[in-house]
Amino acid sequence: MELAVGIELCLECDRDLEHCHGTAIVHLDGFSECSEDPDCRLIAAAHWFQSLCEQEACQSC
Ligand SMILES: [Zn+2]
Ligand SMILES: [Zn+2]
Ligand SMILES: [Zn+2]
Repeated sequence: MELAVGIELCLECDRDLEHCHGTAIVHLDGFSECSEDPDCRLIAAAHWFQSLCEQEACQSC
């Protein structure tokens, strides 16, 4: 299997853990959503990247 360029080996993938390579947008109320996959229901901590929501651009806050 070839690894895509730029993707480093992922410990979670290696261990078959539930996680997401996307970015979790964390809103003011603590609700988080995945910027990569709308169906992703994982907590923010399970994501590779987390970013605080930017209120001006946010549709949820
Ligand atoms: Zn992974
Ligand atoms: Zn927000
Ligand atoms: Zn996700």
